[in-house]
Amino acid sequence: MGAVSLPPPEIRENVPLAPLTTLGIGGPARFFVEALEERAVAGALVFAEERQAPVFVLGGGSNILVADEGFPGLVIRMAMAGITESADPRSPDLARWTAGAGEGWDDLVRRAVQCGLAGIECLSGIPGTVGGTPIQNVGAYGQQVAGVITAVRVWDREARCALELDNTGCRFSYRQSVFNTTARDRHVVLSVSYALTRGGAPALEYADLRKFFAGCDHAPGLPEVRAAVLAIRARKGMVIEPGDPDCRSAGSFFKNPVVSGSDCEAMAQATGGPVPSYPVAGDSRRVKVPAAWLIEQAGFRKGYSRGPAAISGKHALALINRGGASAADVIALMREIQAGVRDRFGVDLLPEPQFIGFQQRPAADSADSTD
Ligand code: NAP
Repeated sequence: MGAVSLPPPEIRENVPLAPLTTLGIGGPARFFVEALEERAVAGALVFAEERQAPVFVLGGGSNILVADEGFPGLVIRMAMAGITESADPRSPDLARWTAGAGEGWDDLVRRAVQCGLAGIECLSGIPGTVGGTPIQNVGAYGQQVAGVITAVRVWDREARCALELDNTGCRFSYRQSVFNTTARDRHVVLSVSYALTRGGAPALEYADLRKFFAGCDHAPGLPEVRAAVLAIRARKGMVIEPGDPDCRSAGSFFKNPVVSGSDCEAMAQATGGPVPSYPVAGDSRRVKVPAAWLIEQAGFRKGYSRGPAAISGKHALALINRGGASAADVIALMREIQAGVRDRFGVDLLPEPQFIGFQQRPAADSADSTD
């Protein structure tokens, strides 16, 4: 860290992680720090380095499965708050909002919609924090954050300094960025800047949304589209409702596989009906098949349970903790579903959440699947 003098970080020990995750599962963090400001991140990293402890950066805990044994290193919980507005030099129609990594994502969307700013309204109801959004280029219902992010301020663990990446430097693609591919674990996201359009029209591209407004006698505004997305997500158990175990999940547990046209044909023959599929941008030979459809076609109905771990009663893609489930219970259910889909269709479903603290990663990752 050179000559920079840092305050000693307020490190706690053996802090339970389960309450900090949406699945409510997992053991404690050996060391834990809540980072309220940028300097706390730098200080915490020095602490971990001195002990050669692994580091995990925690946001909203909405896309992770923590091992029952917990995490043997330092967890840095990003709690930097604050939203500031500045002019965007490209156009007076654009407002640039910069938000601390610890800001709740849906709070930001709600405030943007209230202010009449378009660009993220379809990303309503997504749990987690601002800092998590550039990592996997969060997207839903036809919008993705790559479309509005102008800059991401990060702590670079190699260069040991804070720096800013512009949109191009983030190398966004479908659910991917430099942060979860070529420079995985190198950066800690400190804040994110978004360019939002004053008085812009809401995006109404996806069938679910259009169906919602079918018969509507006027063009829906931003608040109506936000309300529609929240309603659609709630029907699928994808909005966190405190106390509803059907929502105690890590969102979509599997990525939607991308398959060849002939694989899709084979699926149609196996099921005797049409296969729902969607085009993949930049890849005319392959299509995206909803993992939820594959899971149900393989015989796993919504609500299917294996002890305290289950498939949500609202969406086949969400694995839930019905109460008292362990990480091992969820892994066993994940493996059962993967084997069922593989047997029926020859397709490997890859998990979407990050696995934290497992001695052996429970499943291989691949660049071949999306979402
Ligand atoms: P869904 O709406 O049933 O869609 C399932 C899959 O079909 C998604 O991969 C979606 O692509 C694709 N799809 C649907 N309509 C499409 C269209 N008009 N053009 C191209 N592709 C289309 O999915 P869901 O599970 O209920 O999720 C709802 C939305 O939330 C989806 O957009 C999904 O991607 C998103 N989501 C995102 C994340 C994430 O960012 N990590 C996690 C969970 C869900 P797209 O993925 O391109 O939308």
